[in-house]
Amino acid sequence: MTLYAGRIAALGTENAFRVGDDIARVTPQLAARGIDVIRLNIGEPDFDSAPHINDAGCAAIYAGKTHYTDPQGILPLRTAIAAHVRRTRGIAVDPAQVIVTTGGKPSIGFTMQSYVNPGDEVIYPSPGFPIYESWVTYVGGRPVPLPLREERNFVFTPEDLGARITKKTKVIILCSPSNPTGGVFDKRELEALAQLIRTRCGPEVRVYSDEIYEDILFDGSTHHSIASEDGMAERTIIASGHSKGFAMTGWRLGWSVLPTADEAQVFKQLTINTVSCVPPFIQEAGRVALESPASAPVVKQMVEAFQHRRDKTVAALNRIPGISCQTPKGAFYLFPNIGGVCRHFGLTDAKGRSTPIAERFGTPARAVQAFLLERYGVATMDRHSFGRIGADGQHFLRLSIAASLERLMEAAERISRAATDKEGFAEFASAVGAGAT
Ligand code: PMP
Repeated sequence: MTLYAGRIAALGTENAFRVGDDIARVTPQLAARGIDVIRLNIGEPDFDSAPHINDAGCAAIYAGKTHYTDPQGILPLRTAIAAHVRRTRGIAVDPAQVIVTTGGKPSIGFTMQSYVNPGDEVIYPSPGFPIYESWVTYVGGRPVPLPLREERNFVFTPEDLGARITKKTKVIILCSPSNPTGGVFDKRELEALAQLIRTRCGPEVRVYSDEIYEDILFDGSTHHSIASEDGMAERTIIASGHSKGFAMTGWRLGWSVLPTADEAQVFKQLTINTVSCVPPFIQEAGRVALESPASAPVVKQMVEAFQHRRDKTVAALNRIPGISCQTPKGAFYLFPNIGGVCRHFGLTDAKGRSTPIAERFGTPARAVQAFLLERYGVATMDRHSFGRIGADGQHFLRLSIAASLERLMEAAERISRAATDKEGFAEFASAVGAGAT
């Protein structure tokens, strides 16, 4: 008999949370050298939730909204979410189709548990939010990563998707705007994907459309959902929440719209079996965030700040030898290609394959990530933190731009010095026991 059930080994994680331990470990050593850590690993806005939202949460506590509540979510919030989805996606939604969750994350696991039998295939973007792959393997589904290619601005085409749809496909995950690439599908691209899904998939196949970055779009573009396409609302789970757009990560408030009220009941049952309900005062604040006219200007100001930082930081990264960075259209991440740095450090050979030194770190990008953190005090995330399956040979880092412009410029300057510090890397690799033998 073993201590842990077999399935636990199939559960992945989100390294953005785990890297905190590495930062804590290196902080004193770096501080001794006068270097502070610039945290670009974090997937949350560096803005606080707005005062009118905070006030609503506090007032609800004082009004006694401190008890258990409807596990599906309080009706006023579900009504506000239904109205928001109608307004932004042009589809009719009944509050009975809405489920309120503790952040946007639970719906990923709920979807896998509700629809995926062992052996069923789940297609998901890679690089993508790591929790997708984690849950697919946990429920015994077959992971089918769909590569997002840099040369296509990190969106996939109907051909890419079509090549992966089989009779066993059960769930197709989309994420736009994307974490970690900032790629965004435009209306025309979504129309083509919808057309493919309608013709190739039966009515029991579900699309999980992760739209949690719906408010964070640049260059004046607006959000589009695949659920708005003909015949797609009845197949699509729209998942979003308050964490990103309203800078409410720590409140733990998310929501999903299910194709039917029956399916929302299954998600409700999963909620009853786990957290029982989302705290009512959190939901009340969430309702105010959606309904108050004070919210839009706050969101706009944050998005403008992200766009300004994006422009400056992408330009700074593209000046560094060995790095090329696309300009993301949404979310708050940059996803630079560091293939040239990996080559320069001897982490890849002429064909882009990992060398033995890289293998000792795990991957070439992981080695660069460790070097940047431990020697230059810049915390980033490596490519394999966003889906491991099929990711070999891709050398990228994710940098969050949820930091002040001043810190971002300082980070770019440090990365620039690190990228040319071949000797420093060799010394680092041998100090951690990964040097050339
Ligand atoms: N989906 C994506 C694509 C995300 O990036 C995140 C958060 N990093 C989530 C879902 C989960 O959000 P939450 O913190 O609200 O659970």
